[in-house]
Amino acid sequence: MKIFEKIYAGGRWIVPASTLTTDVIDPSTEEIIGRVPLCNAEDIDSAVKAARDAFPAWADRPLPDRVDYLRRIAAAMKARSKEIGACIAQEMGMPLKLAKMIQAGLPIGTMEGYADIAEKFPFEETVGNSLIIREPAGVCGFITPWNYPLHQIVGKVAPALAAGCTMVLKPSEVAPLNAFLLAEIIHEVGLPAGVFNLVSGEGPIVGEALASHPEVDMVSFTGSTRAGIRVAELAAPTVKRVTQELGGKSANIILDDADFENAVAKGVQDCYLNSGQTCSALTRMLVPEERMEEAAAVARAAAERFTPGPAMERGTRLGPLVSHAQRERVRYYIKKGIEEGARLITGGPEAPENLPAGYFVKPTVFADVKPEMTIAREEIFGPVLSIMSYQDEDHAVSLANNSEYGLSGSVWSSDVERAKKVARRLRTGQVYINGGRHNPLAPFGGYKKSGNGREFGTHGLEEFLEVKAMQL
Ligand code: NAD
Repeated sequence: MKIFEKIYAGGRWIVPASTLTTDVIDPSTEEIIGRVPLCNAEDIDSAVKAARDAFPAWADRPLPDRVDYLRRIAAAMKARSKEIGACIAQEMGMPLKLAKMIQAGLPIGTMEGYADIAEKFPFEETVGNSLIIREPAGVCGFITPWNYPLHQIVGKVAPALAAGCTMVLKPSEVAPLNAFLLAEIIHEVGLPAGVFNLVSGEGPIVGEALASHPEVDMVSFTGSTRAGIRVAELAAPTVKRVTQELGGKSANIILDDADFENAVAKGVQDCYLNSGQTCSALTRMLVPEERMEEAAAVARAAAERFTPGPAMERGTRLGPLVSHAQRERVRYYIKKGIEEGARLITGGPEAPENLPAGYFVKPTVFADVKPEMTIAREEIFGPVLSIMSYQDEDHAVSLANNSEYGLSGSVWSSDVERAKKVARRLRTGQVYINGGRHNPLAPFGGYKKSGNGREFGTHGLEEFLEVKAMQL
């Protein structure tokens, strides 16, 4: 049991003004594994004040000092990486081996990576008679989700620290424990008081208080499009900078000359990563119409290899969904797919056998999915693949772009130049070609209702900088 009774503000662990708490549930077992405070607007106010007080000195610190803190935090995270991986596997359900690699490994790499990026970044340049300087954006508010919880947090904290910003983090109330581990680490390495502050609680209470606080200069939000819109509305009256990393419904175009079997099997794997709870998951597979049957058969075989099981059990390939509510949502969509006439190839809305506890669903594949169907349009956030057919390349592109989202996409072809041409036509923030690897230094973000702004790499650092032009 991990019980945190205090929040972290002004360099100290303090008892929050609110006396409410929330339990953290292990979605593999439905057991309570932790507890954190559910704070209120007063707690946000004290944390924002601490961040505001700390801002001038932190912004003025020489860059090598800030870089040094990033490296020390990364080293301390590394020393606790097993604990971090296990904590996240337990609180959100990703299988342990993967959680160690992705949920702990990625954020450590990002923290280190930003030390390198900041060292090389041109904070000043000359344009004609102007000196252009980049300065920290100020006090930042961070609101983050539960699916890649620490990855999302560090994608904001690391560049903000490098830029010279101070910050208040409100992690997801569903998987908050990893954020407390990070606060412990930051405290241990002695980051100056008030630079990083942590306030836990619910979106509509603390998230909204943070987004609307007049002393916050910038809000960086990752989560659902619904909540992201609310945050931007609340930030508008104080003209804050807002960056949003939101939902997705990404298309995987498998062209007629692709290594078909491999592309379909890899497409299923991508869709099921983290039990489908990945904002950039390739949930719509687009195949030539004459190859629908072949795609369905390969996808079925690939899907059935994803045996659901508890995150902490060796050999589990598909963990549970994060919560009871999330499982109900996914089951609703599976039923909706059947009702609206999609062909269920494998899986379905019933719970998997032999798993009496835990928020599990069966790995599910639908074929003959039509563009107007709910499962082709809405983000499901579960292991549910929709296979759709296209007539020709233009049709494939138009189907892929027929979405209110624009986060990610993928193209498979034996001709890389052809794949790149198709990729250029997609209105999305990233495109994976022939299963290209995730690059943690590449900018990540969305077009359309998938968001505003970019995280990670140099582009992610720029989000935390104001630009000043001095005419000489
Ligand atoms: P969510 O929107 O319910 O919650 C995200 C965060 O916002 C949480 O901290 C929550 O407490 C807070 N929040 C909720 N309502 C709020 C409000 N009214 N005001 C302020 N804050 C509020 O999303 P979730 O269920 O935690 O995460 C799943 C969603 O996140 C999916 O839609 C997924 O696509 C998206 N996501 C996007 C990215 C990306 O980079 N584009 C990454 C991960 C997740």
